[in-house]
Amino acid sequence: AIDKALEARRKHLPNTHPTYFADPIAMARARDCLFYDERGLSYLDALNNVTLLGHGHPRLVDAATRQLGRLNTNTRFVYDTLTEYAERLTATLPDGLDVVYFVNSGSEANDLALRMARFLTKRDDIVIIDDAYHGYTTVVADVSPSRYRNYGKPDTTHPTPVPDRYRGAYGYDDADAGAKYAQHVIDTFDRLAAEGRPPAAFLYESLLAGGGQVVLPPGYLEPITAAAAERGVLTIADEVQVGFGRLGEAFWGFQTQGPGVVPDFVTMGKAMGNGFPMAAMVTTREISRAFDPAGRFFSTYGGNPVACAVGLELLEVVADEGLQHNALVVGQYLRDRLAGLADRHPLIGDVRGQGFYSGVEFVRDRETKEPASEETLTICERLKDRGVLVYPTGPSWNILKLKPPLTFTRGHADEFTDALDAVLETGW
Ligand code: PMP
Repeated sequence: AIDKALEARRKHLPNTHPTYFADPIAMARARDCLFYDERGLSYLDALNNVTLLGHGHPRLVDAATRQLGRLNTNTRFVYDTLTEYAERLTATLPDGLDVVYFVNSGSEANDLALRMARFLTKRDDIVIIDDAYHGYTTVVADVSPSRYRNYGKPDTTHPTPVPDRYRGAYGYDDADAGAKYAQHVIDTFDRLAAEGRPPAAFLYESLLAGGGQVVLPPGYLEPITAAAAERGVLTIADEVQVGFGRLGEAFWGFQTQGPGVVPDFVTMGKAMGNGFPMAAMVTTREISRAFDPAGRFFSTYGGNPVACAVGLELLEVVADEGLQHNALVVGQYLRDRLAGLADRHPLIGDVRGQGFYSGVEFVRDRETKEPASEETLTICERLKDRGVLVYPTGPSWNILKLKPPLTFTRGHADEFTDALDAVLETGW
């Protein structure tokens, strides 16, 4: 069956649509933290992209099924699931972030935030963090270095240094690293203003995924947020990867940077529907009101009743099952165990992360930090052979991106670490 599926992919999907692994798995089903292939073999999911609560959570299946049988239509009709969900969702955000624009993907959410920021400020330029990925629509690809590198950086995009304390100019031993990296961003605001083109927005992720699983240094976002407010630059927190409690200590990633960090726009997706397609951009009533005359907002599937029913149930389950706490505690346990491997395996250059979002960076030499890119891919293949799924990320593809479901247990963390230990021990 896999041969047939691969043949059909070659025929009907674009060449640029990659599969995981050289020898892809024929996935049959998945439950909680495990995938099962067509042969019935199981694979631990540390690679999870969207299923925050694990695969096939019975409460979500039930919520979706019930809503699908009851009502499924578009948001120009008035129905309770939409408004109940909007109320419940905005209750997780700081006061003032009250208005939800429901869309269908992270790309759409960022696209809309950028459009509103440009319209409201009457400015065009956007400041970003280098190596970020924010999505695939035209406007959003233009602020995603990994995409625009193929066609040339747009004049209006201004990347600032990745605040990477492993590789960057200011390291883990520098207590002021956050403020120093922030100063580069603030200087960019001022340089652009001096050139007569002050920026419309600063767009950031609260833990940089495409940038290489980089945890923002403490004290980074607070001075940027204050400087942006003083200069009329709007801030956009892209929470597509990290939101919904994944980072453990706070429900939203930007909140891990302190109470002074309140963005003008928060974009979200992925985990929001546990794999059921839904996304949103949340902003203030004031911003929303100023934008609305520019064109009524309407998305046929944004705010879809089934999606909202799933999203609502997901928020309840995160709270009922104490999953944010699990992310905090087991996430740290996983990193502690992985850091323990570094004593015996010189390939491990750095272990970092927050909650259940971690990175293990592999280097050929700890002094030069030469990225062990091919090795990392091979390690993922060997882990797959042992029934553990994880995949590389980062500009050099030499970082394991660990993003398990929030239901991942200590036992799963041990299984993952033991498998990695064995792969590094036996060679790859
Ligand atoms: N922002 C970030 C940080 C992402 O990682 C992604 C997707 N990987 C997106 C936005 C785009 O989301 P989508 O694929 O749902 O359009």
